[in-house]
Amino acid sequence: MQSPINLLSDTVTRPTPAMRQAMLAAEVGDDVFGEDPTAKALEARVAALFGHEAALFMPSGVMSNQIAIKAHTEPMDELICEETSHVFRYENGGYAFHSQIAIQTIPGDHGRLTAEQVARAIKPKADWLPRSRLVVLENTCNAAGGSYYRLEQVLPIRDLCRERGLALHLDGARLFNALAETGEATQDWGRAFDSLSICLSKGLGAPVGSLLVGRADFIAKARRLRKGFGGGMRQIGILCAAGLHALDHHVDRLREDHAHARRLAAVLAGQPYVAALRPVHTNILIFDLAGSISAEAALASLARHGIKASAFGPQTIRFVTHLDVTAEMIEAACVLLAGPVRAELAP
Ligand SMILES: *Cc1c(COP(=O)(O)O)cnc(C)c1O
Repeated sequence: MQSPINLLSDTVTRPTPAMRQAMLAAEVGDDVFGEDPTAKALEARVAALFGHEAALFMPSGVMSNQIAIKAHTEPMDELICEETSHVFRYENGGYAFHSQIAIQTIPGDHGRLTAEQVARAIKPKADWLPRSRLVVLENTCNAAGGSYYRLEQVLPIRDLCRERGLALHLDGARLFNALAETGEATQDWGRAFDSLSICLSKGLGAPVGSLLVGRADFIAKARRLRKGFGGGMRQIGILCAAGLHALDHHVDRLREDHAHARRLAAVLAGQPYVAALRPVHTNILIFDLAGSISAEAALASLARHGIKASAFGPQTIRFVTHLDVTAEMIEAACVLLAGPVRAELAP
C-alpha cells in the first residue's frame, strides 16, 4: 500500500523541512515579558496585513475566539451567530462557560447570514432580555462545507452592527481559503470587523497557532485575558517563525487545495455509492452515501486503501485537502475511489 492519503482535516499538516529550518533559526525571548522578537514581528505583520492596530498570538483558534467573545461582552449579554458556527457547535459551550452570556443562533444559507436576519435577531432593550452585544461570522464556513462570504455580503452586517452598537467578530480560521477564491484584500476584511481570528495551523500548515487582530485597547485586554486563560507562553518565537514562514510560502498555494477538492468531487459525482455531493467551494468536500451504506463502512473501506477521512453524520463523509496532500496523492485517490472502493461499497 502506498503512503496514506490523509483527508481527515487540514490540521494534520506537518511542518515542511523549510518551515523547520525557519523554526530552528528563530530568535526568541520570554513573551510574557514582551521580549520575544519573533512573536512581535509576527503580530506586527498580521496586524498590518488586516489594517488593524495590533494582533496577539494564541495557542489555538478556540482560545482566540473565546477570548474575543469575553473581551467584547459582559455577563447576561448575547452573542448572535449562524447555527452551524464553530463558536456554537465545537467550542464546548465556551461562550457560557467563560463569558456567562446567552446565544441566539440563526439558520443561514450554507453557513452565511444576511443583515436582515441579524436585524431580526437583535433584541429590543428590556430588563428581561439578554443584551444583544456581539455578532460572530465565520469565513470560510467549516460545518457548512467550506462556503464563503464575499465582502459585499458582510458590509451590510457591519453597518447594522455599528448602527445598533454591536461588536462584529470574524472567526476566520480559514479566511485565507476564502480570499484565495475571491481575490479580496485582507485590509478590506480587516476594516469590516472589530476583531478577527485567523488560524496558522489549518491550511497554512504551521504546527500551532492563531492570531487575534483588533484595536490596540482590545488586544491589550485580550492579552490580560490570555494570561488568565493560561495561554501566556514563553519562547514562542519558535512557533511564530513557523507562522511567518507560512505567510510567506503557504498562502498563494491554497488554490491548489481547492483544485484538488474539485478533482475528487468530479470523480465522486459518478460513483454509485454517492447519493449527494455538497457543492465544493474551497478545500472541504462533503458527500452523503447511497442506500444503506454507513459512514463507518465507507471509512473502513477507504482506510483499507490508505485514505483517511471523517464521518460528518451517520451516512455522510468529509474530505479536506491540504498542504500534505500532493497532486500525485489526489490522482491515486481518484483511482481508488473509482476502483476498489467502488467495488467494495457497491450498493
Ligand atoms: C479549526 C477551527 C477553529 C479553531 O480550532 P483550534 O483547533 O482550536 O485551532 C475555529 N473556528 C473554525 C471555523 C475552525 O475550523
